[in-house]
Amino acid sequence: PVCAPLDVLGRDVLVPLVTGGEVDYAALDYAASAPALQRVWDDVAAYAPYYGSVHRGAGYLSQLSTDLFENARTTITRFLGCRDDDQVIFTRSTTDSLNLLAAALPHSTQVFVFETEHHASLLPWEQRDDVDVTYLDAPRTSRQAVDILEKALAAREPSPSSPLRSSRGGSIGPALVCVTGASNVTGEIWPVKELAAVAHAHGARIVLDAAQLAPHHPVDLAELDVDWAAFSGHKLYAPFGSGVLAGRADWLREADPYLAGGGASRTVARRPDGGVDVAWHTTAARHEAGSPNVIGAYAIASACQALTDAGFDALVAREQELIARVRTGLAEVPEVRILSLFGDDAPRVGVLSFVVDGWNSSHFAAALSAEYGIGVRDGLFCAHPLVRTLLGGAPDAPAECGAPEAAPGERALNAVRVSFGAGTPDEHVDRFVRAVK
Ligand code: PMP
Repeated sequence: PVCAPLDVLGRDVLVPLVTGGEVDYAALDYAASAPALQRVWDDVAAYAPYYGSVHRGAGYLSQLSTDLFENARTTITRFLGCRDDDQVIFTRSTTDSLNLLAAALPHSTQVFVFETEHHASLLPWEQRDDVDVTYLDAPRTSRQAVDILEKALAAREPSPSSPLRSSRGGSIGPALVCVTGASNVTGEIWPVKELAAVAHAHGARIVLDAAQLAPHHPVDLAELDVDWAAFSGHKLYAPFGSGVLAGRADWLREADPYLAGGGASRTVARRPDGGVDVAWHTTAARHEAGSPNVIGAYAIASACQALTDAGFDALVAREQELIARVRTGLAEVPEVRILSLFGDDAPRVGVLSFVVDGWNSSHFAAALSAEYGIGVRDGLFCAHPLVRTLLGGAPDAPAECGAPEAAPGERALNAVRVSFGAGTPDEHVDRFVRAVK
């Protein structure tokens, strides 16, 4: 594919074009990976020939790379509204960030997580044998989400009769709530600030999976009062293999390094008994062992700055226009059912999943690609419990594709997802609506 610059709102975006044909490829799978902003592409191209190893070189290229890497950290700190004592750690992705936090949880932490989460925020906690995970039922309104959490955390209070108290010999460990800011299936925005208030009222901490929220909405840790947030570059117009975990330093500082190796260790010395003593860094470097992905960090910071410069008010307004266009168009097709947990009026980002009566979703998505040059996604979107709930509890849905044809009126086994954002032209969503019709 070749790439042609298009407008964000106007400006700054690369949209892939299919070469050798007349068809302008409509990339409507932003929720999986969003196309690079022109500005990110330009920044990366300008720096790419000059990379060097960060933090450990006296040479010019090492110094340049160190500056870019640490300035990228500062840009992310600002982008996320971090508090003075927060750390920004560069990772590979949201999945990596949440696994890092899971690995850093204090012993016997109790984690509360809605069953509706993406697998990246649902599954890392179970990897720890010494951590309890409580799965919360799918709420059907945003208010209900807050109530469900409230109830679950209240049940944890250390009253003398609490089963937790007795099972832990009189003490309960810290608690962590994990919640996704915007669903990668329905696009619905979760009541993060309210959930954070409830978590804190019960002495729990909260981590925000901002993979889908951060590309579309401002995420301000201090304002939302969340303890950590995680997001990925490739969903935020910076497809160069980097992610971020940002937030409270204390648990991270006290945890074992995520990876053991150079960069994370401050001093290493042989002991007289033959062993090795290691003093680990207490800064973000503790969890960034090895030579980091400097280009990835630089790209993600460039994308964050580009969104800040474009202004979230304008980005949100433009995206709401596109959502309205798609919804109005799909409303004219009676066979289409848009999936929603919180109802039609819930605020959402530019992500919609739907099923079409009588169609297998994989075939539907394949037809959109082959016949109309439109890239969408089909399946269960790494959120199997959520999609099954939305589809009415389909029991054994095949994970991604190959689902048997659902006859008209039968329950669908998977869904189609369309998603868009900065740089999506009207023509792409209009073509999508025409194709569905
Ligand atoms: N959380 C959400 C809500 C997501 O949509 C995704 C990606 N689909 C992830 C986490 C995981 O992101 P990554 O694959 O970049 O680790």
